[in-house]
Amino acid sequence: MKKVHNFNAGPCVLPQAAIDATIEALKDFSGTGMPVICVSHRSKEWDAVMDETRALWRELLDIPEEYEILFLGGGASTQFLMVAMNLLENKAAYLETGVWAKKALKEAKGIGNAVCVASSADKTYCYIPKDYEIPTDADYFHITTNNTIYGTEIKYDMDCPVNLVADMSSDIMSRPVNVRKYALIYGGAQKNVGPAGVTFVIVRKDVLGKVTRYLPTMLDYRTHVDGLSMFNTPPVFAIFVMKETLKWVKSLGGVEAMHKLNVEKADLLYNEIDRNSLFVGTAAKEDRSIMNVCFVMAPGHEDLQDEFMAFAKERGMVGIKGHRSVGGFRASLYNACPKEDVQALVDCMKEFEKLHK
Ligand SMILES: *Cc1c(COP(=O)(O)O)cnc(C)c1O
Repeated sequence: MKKVHNFNAGPCVLPQAAIDATIEALKDFSGTGMPVICVSHRSKEWDAVMDETRALWRELLDIPEEYEILFLGGGASTQFLMVAMNLLENKAAYLETGVWAKKALKEAKGIGNAVCVASSADKTYCYIPKDYEIPTDADYFHITTNNTIYGTEIKYDMDCPVNLVADMSSDIMSRPVNVRKYALIYGGAQKNVGPAGVTFVIVRKDVLGKVTRYLPTMLDYRTHVDGLSMFNTPPVFAIFVMKETLKWVKSLGGVEAMHKLNVEKADLLYNEIDRNSLFVGTAAKEDRSIMNVCFVMAPGHEDLQDEFMAFAKERGMVGIKGHRSVGGFRASLYNACPKEDVQALVDCMKEFEKLHK
């Protein structure tokens, strides 16, 4: 098989151990004589997968009793709507740090009174706004902890005077999180915890049931809390791979160990971007993401962009093209991206600089 360095933004690289376990489960799942995608989701073997997956989430993120962890369909994009439907009664506040945040705000505006407290759209979302006030009469404050497209990240768990809701699609499990600071955390699995098809929601149960609007059954979180994420058929395949991915995280020492490794990988690449005369980072330094590293050709070298892309491709780099709204390059360094791959990209940038000196 071709050796590549996978920097895709999502779907993206997953741990080889999880892929291998999945291949085995596609042959014979848990001694059932059936592939994991062919067993009943009402079987005891499947129940065990659901229980183990929930237990791994609880253990890895230290999720307290009063929270439920849900596995749903529809992606993070459906959560933009569900969050507002289930939590917005009088007013909601949003921090607009990127296109995903903006899309979340749009859905909330369709449901009720949703306000933007601050935006970094003025500078193509290259920084996290710092000076803003969270209205204390808001039902919740919504943030996007990692801005996948722009490479900025809120790297701490903020104090918030109202219920804090976070889209953690692209940095969940990359660092320890104090879940108690949040009322609800959600995200698509396909960036850091599994394949596309399953969406995780961590919700403090006491925030539910407070709105007066009619909630369609499938869009009411309580349906899934009560049904243990099995009110209807869950995305079994994606959940299975997620379980194996979390087992791998645990085997490496959990989120503390992941965080240490992620910081090392990000430092390695950012240091090269800052050192290399041909490249420059696009995100404000203090807000740099440890998951998605965005950079462009340095001023005066813009004409080398296509050449570097081809040069990197030849050396096995995959998925480093920046999002069309930012241009340049983006390397996603999710948990499963090995440090050697980051080193290979750094070496490639060094080699390219020598070629042009
Ligand atoms: C990818 C992404 C989304 C969209 O996720 P879907 O599962 O495709 O709907 C939302 N928010 C963030 C931060 C993302 O990175």
